[in-house]
Amino acid sequence: MCGIMGIYNNTEASTLAYMGLYAQQHRGQEGAGIVSANEGKLFRHMGQGLVSDVFSEPSVFDELQGNSAIGHVRYSTTGESDRKNVGPLMFNVDDIPISIAHNGNLVNAADVRRRLQQEGAIFQTSTDTEIIIHLLAREQGKTIADRLERALQKVAGAYSLLIITPDELIAARDPHGIRPFCLGRLKDAYLLASETCAFDLLGADYLRDIKPGEMLVIDPDGLHTKQIFPETQPRHCIFEHIYFSRPDSRIFDENVDKIRRKFSKILADEQPAPGADIVISVPDSSNTNALGYARRANLKYEIGLIRNHYVGRTFIFPSQRLRDLSVKLKFNTVRGVLKDREVVVVDDSIVRGTTLKKLTRLLKASGVKKVHVRIGSPPVRHPCFYGMDFPTETELLAADHSEAEMQAIIAVDSLGYLSIDGMLNATGADKEHFCTACFSGNYPVIPKGDHD
Ligand code: SF4
Repeated sequence: MCGIMGIYNNTEASTLAYMGLYAQQHRGQEGAGIVSANEGKLFRHMGQGLVSDVFSEPSVFDELQGNSAIGHVRYSTTGESDRKNVGPLMFNVDDIPISIAHNGNLVNAADVRRRLQQEGAIFQTSTDTEIIIHLLAREQGKTIADRLERALQKVAGAYSLLIITPDELIAARDPHGIRPFCLGRLKDAYLLASETCAFDLLGADYLRDIKPGEMLVIDPDGLHTKQIFPETQPRHCIFEHIYFSRPDSRIFDENVDKIRRKFSKILADEQPAPGADIVISVPDSSNTNALGYARRANLKYEIGLIRNHYVGRTFIFPSQRLRDLSVKLKFNTVRGVLKDREVVVVDDSIVRGTTLKKLTRLLKASGVKKVHVRIGSPPVRHPCFYGMDFPTETELLAADHSEAEMQAIIAVDSLGYLSIDGMLNATGADKEHFCTACFSGNYPVIPKGDHD
């Protein structure tokens, strides 16, 4: 996963990009970067780590002058965690400086990359994003936008992407609109972001979503739009509503918080927990879910787990004992709330199940009488090929275990998931409006193969 941010026509473009990336830090913590355009040139600052680490020196903004900028926070799904893969990536195409930031994942990247290499292309990074630039460089066309339009016909998968040149900002979204992408306005400036929480921070207005298959070009003459793919069935990633996007964002034309609460209400109806005393969340991502569940089930919502917000990425501990302890770095229990209680723990999803297993042990050690786990999404049984960093099928707990087996593995007294129908009903959209492939195996874009 990644987060992207673009600004056109503001004298503080790079500072606004920095703030917009800050708001979207949850979308990627591996690296961050900003590219600005000024007087016919592009300037970049990027690095590995959080936005606050990469941009810790105010002087870096002296280099990032100009009225337009794009930014990127990275979480690798294709291409290893390496400084050279941190976006936005920079290139020269026919001596025109060009930079690209991409959220999503191309499903035919390996095939296209191999073919480009056979034709002599030399790649600077191991990202799928770079493929788009190589394709663009080989295409004919009057403008960069024309060439990009042609290049995008040769890739498949999920992309919300931003390209900056010295004169223009280009935004494009894949035909199914798998990843979110929003357009906003701040006085005379246009803003683009993965999530609207970036606009809120800047005091900007949300105008609309970039349409699936749409390309926007913003230049001194204003904003130009073109539908570069025929309108087709959107297949927005439902996992953005379940977990990934911030609850204060509006994505896919809906408030995340509203949809997430609906998930939890339906979950409470489908999976009640008779005999339970209280509901707690796994902070922070399931706070909204737990609140919604508690209200619907008429149970008290309590803060039973405290999250340490200062824990960054922890290394892989060498022994199982230390690995088990590592969850304590992140969470601690509030014994007074939990002791002798029958507790419903609401979480948004189970991927590997390792954290939940450790949390259950922690809760039981705090004197909890019974643990009922309720999950605000269906079992994740299939990998994601569109940019969500899920492990392979063999590592997904639900891939080859029944719910009864999973209940035994995570050692809880009961386990209940939201159904796929319940999840889709919560959105109010028709059943094909969302991608649900990691739950259903129904992939909207064929995961592998050459799409030329
Ligand atoms: S497979 Fe799952 S995580 Fe991936 S895009 Fe589809 S719904 Fe989202």
